[in-house]
Amino acid sequence: MPAAHLSDPGVKHDSSSRAPRSSRDVTFAGSAVGPSQFPADRLPEVAFLGRSNVGKSSLLNALAGTRGLARVSSAPGRTRLVNFFRVSGAERPGGRGRGDLYLVDLPGYGYAKASREVRESFEQVAVSYLTDREPLRLCVFIVDARHEPGERDGVLRSWLDHHGLPWMLAVNKIDALNRDESRRRLASLRAGLGQGAQAVLPVSAERGTGIVELWNVIRVAAFAVDDAGVAVIATRGQDGR
Ligand code: GDP
Repeated sequence: MPAAHLSDPGVKHDSSSRAPRSSRDVTFAGSAVGPSQFPADRLPEVAFLGRSNVGKSSLLNALAGTRGLARVSSAPGRTRLVNFFRVSGAERPGGRGRGDLYLVDLPGYGYAKASREVRESFEQVAVSYLTDREPLRLCVFIVDARHEPGERDGVLRSWLDHHGLPWMLAVNKIDALNRDESRRRLASLRAGLGQGAQAVLPVSAERGTGIVELWNVIRVAAFAVDDAGVAVIATRGQDGR
């Protein structure tokens, strides 16, 4: 499968975005079919994964403050690849200056129309990324607030836990629920699928809800280092906080 490489042009920022967000300096850094094409510069990485249509592209756009990323990720031939977006000059927590990181867009899973063979190849590239990826600091597991998690979401959660990967749940499309519904949904996710998550955060890519909070979890995970300069992962709470 041909892959797009680092020569791809940077993503143009789009000021027509509806919600008031600040644009981050985010550029498309390339797509990969396998480990030999993953970045070699060892910057911290935060991966985004979830069922197709949960709003993964929209969430990446909301974090970047641009609509351009979705166009890149959904370009023909790229939906089945691992796409890397480089964030430049992100504020480290605690006023420790600025640093760069990658937001990593993994292929969505559960395409109803895809054949079993195609579905498995979607997963293979994601698995090749998630297994033994040293710079990976956090997986942002996205679910759709409107629906109960499916069987494949549970399988993914068990897989992340089994491999000891740090992950959080981003409950997207929270705008589609009223206050009571969202409270119930979050409680059930915290007690169920979200157990073992570092955080369970309600977000809306469309309205911009929770995007600042999500970004804060991301940069803390990306830049958390102990005194010896070794990356540390935040302790997980039972309630997902
Ligand atoms: P992806 O397949 O996971 O990348 O999902 P997309 O970002 O393409 O979004 C899938 C659909 O969900 C689109 O119709 C989006 O407009 C919609 N969507 C994404 N985020 C939100 C959100 O926060 N709220 C609502 N109501 N719809 C959303």
